[in-house]
Amino acid sequence: MIPFDYERAVGAASAVAKVTGHSGAAFLAGGTNLVDHMKLGIATPDFLVDISKLPLDTIEELPDGRVRIGATVRNSDLAAHPLIRQRYPVLSQALLAGASGQLRNMATTGGNLLQRTRCVYFQDVSTPCNKREPGTGCSALGGYTRNHAILGASDSCVAVHPSDMAVAMTALDATVVILGTHGKRSLPLTALFRNPGSEPNRDTTLEHGELIIAVDLPADTSSLSAYRKVRDRASYAFALVSVAALMDIDDSGTFREVRIALGGVAHQPWRAERAEEVLRGAEATEENFRRAADAELVFASPLPDNAFKIPMVRNTMVAVLRQLAGGQNNG
Ligand code: SF4
Repeated sequence: MIPFDYERAVGAASAVAKVTGHSGAAFLAGGTNLVDHMKLGIATPDFLVDISKLPLDTIEELPDGRVRIGATVRNSDLAAHPLIRQRYPVLSQALLAGASGQLRNMATTGGNLLQRTRCVYFQDVSTPCNKREPGTGCSALGGYTRNHAILGASDSCVAVHPSDMAVAMTALDATVVILGTHGKRSLPLTALFRNPGSEPNRDTTLEHGELIIAVDLPADTSSLSAYRKVRDRASYAFALVSVAALMDIDDSGTFREVRIALGGVAHQPWRAERAEEVLRGAEATEENFRRAADAELVFASPLPDNAFKIPMVRNTMVAVLRQLAGGQNNG
């Protein structure tokens, strides 16, 4: 680990100014990803601005019914909060499916969104990786690809986003509140993340020094929702595939609303818009669930080791839709 300076932030605006004005600076919150990366030599900041003690650790209902989650709310506190458990069970389930109890106690909401891929080549500084070192090549192409993307990848990078929480928030139509040197702005979560394209080193659309200060959830309490994660171990494992879904069905069994996001399949939490389009206004039948999954997967492009993800996504999506149509919230 290289030497670095450390400073505890006294305010969000001054923290933003310090990081913006120093190209080698980074924000530190829970540190569960960044500190690992510093030990491995993947990240080499020379100045850490610690935002963990800023007053960004509350969960509150806004006057218009939305729920605002502060960026430094710990994952375990978010999963257990009564407002989240009652109104957004998909989010609570996704959080509890992620990492371990100890990590959830440290990891923050903002940090969870910004955690980086667990591609084994990204984490091994002895191998070429376009995400870690632009222009060096992608070791996964021609290498081990079991855990990699089947949707939205490029010739430069086939990594997947590792977060469970972000998949649930994508299905929830969450918005991130960002503070920069020019003030605050809000962004749909789907506009925060990006596909790798020719710049896989950029995970998000954030500029250097911009700080996520909160995530807002819509005042959406009527939907059934669930998160299901398929992985190699029952705990402490990243998703091979995951599905977050919300739905609202009328008395005749027709979809009034449905929102679906996929994890473990793309560089970003993948909003399954094609599947949603098939289902909106359609009857909640097994046949339509399968048609929706097939519509989403029509452009899937598996790598040599991960063709299994296609039937896995199809079966998991159908299972979650069937479960919710049967009136069950539990993942
Ligand atoms: Fe690096 Fe992406 Fe290739 Fe993995 S898939 S080696 S992260 S460029």
